[in-house]
Amino acid sequence: MSKKFRVFATCDIGDSIELLRKRGYEVEVYPRPEAPPKNLIIEKVKSGVDGLITTLRDPIDAEVFEVGKGTLKVVAQIAVGFDNINRADANRYKVPFTHTADVLTEATAEFAFFLLGSLARKMWPAEHLTRENRWGYWHPYLPFLGDEVTGKTIAVIGTGRIGLALIKKCSGFDMNILCYDPAYQNHEYVKGIQEVMDLRQARGIQKEKTWIKYVSLEEALRTADFVSVHVPLLREGESTTPTYHLFNEKTLRMMKPTAYLVNTSRGPVVDELAVAKALREKWIAGAALDVYEKEPLPEDSPLRDPAIEDRFRLLPHFASAARITRLSTDPNKGMAGRTAQGLIDVLEGNYDGDVRKMPYVVNKEAFGK
Ligand code: NAD
Repeated sequence: MSKKFRVFATCDIGDSIELLRKRGYEVEVYPRPEAPPKNLIIEKVKSGVDGLITTLRDPIDAEVFEVGKGTLKVVAQIAVGFDNINRADANRYKVPFTHTADVLTEATAEFAFFLLGSLARKMWPAEHLTRENRWGYWHPYLPFLGDEVTGKTIAVIGTGRIGLALIKKCSGFDMNILCYDPAYQNHEYVKGIQEVMDLRQARGIQKEKTWIKYVSLEEALRTADFVSVHVPLLREGESTTPTYHLFNEKTLRMMKPTAYLVNTSRGPVVDELAVAKALREKWIAGAALDVYEKEPLPEDSPLRDPAIEDRFRLLPHFASAARITRLSTDPNKGMAGRTAQGLIDVLEGNYDGDVRKMPYVVNKEAFGK
């Protein structure tokens, strides 16, 4: 390679950094675990780096692209969601950015499923009971019971990569499945799942007949026992179907008082004040959140209210946090490997230098022939 590329990474992404260095890249890694201040990112871009490795914690917008004019060639994000990157600004400055779709799909979907199971079966309060030595007897229904997942109805909100992966897992638990997605509907996939459901029933693998169908948001929320959210964060003006506060007082009130909500998508998709109220006033039976309007969750957040904690699981943006998913250097397995490969594709001009052919580039629309 003739040119030595310079890269600033706002966080360590493990062995993939060494692999870039072995290729001759000069890579500087921000050494602390928290996000660097924005002015440090600006300073690094101003110094002429060719590439940035970013996380969802880093605001990347016109201010960054402006100082990188003529030098910044790519932003490689270690996440599938990219709501921290201003797409319109990236397009205006013609800087491609990449993400790590697919490699975290199964990990995130299984995490959402485990969350809904542990929430409904009350594993957290039950373990507290045991640890705090409050478990005095075996009794048919005291001190509390949970709700089964098997055989229930789930609404999957957003049937993209992660939503479809969750559907596959739920079908194995004999669940009925309601799908809602105003922008993308995969009827072939749904048909395939129905065929599998029918075959399982015909062969006696599951007792009851189960079903899957696309419905309206209202029907999904009014009917489901579980609601799991798998949409990108799209603010007003970014989409004809924005997802900002998609779950608010009005939509939460549509859910059954026995239903559970799980959100592993992005925090601002759920109005946190509304969900705390819904739990306090028992409009819904429980909720589990992995993502928040402000991360990390502020100390004084109303979500920490002890009055609702037995029905409310709070996780630290953890859904993709599995060893291989996060750190494998293989671009087909790990977010780190895919991030590095996205960066390499752009800087080294793979795919004949045609950005639109590069699989991990998001904003292909900004690049003509
Ligand atoms: P995707 O783009 O494949 O799927 C998203 C789906 O949401 C699309 O089908 C889209 O049409 C649909 N959608 C858009 N607007 C909608 C609306 N108003 N109502 C319902 N559906 C709508 O994305 P993906 O790979 O499945 O990831 C989904 C999101 O999950 C990511 O954008 C990311 O923010 C989040 N995520 C979080 C974690 C985590 O660690 N908690 C991990 C991975 C992904």
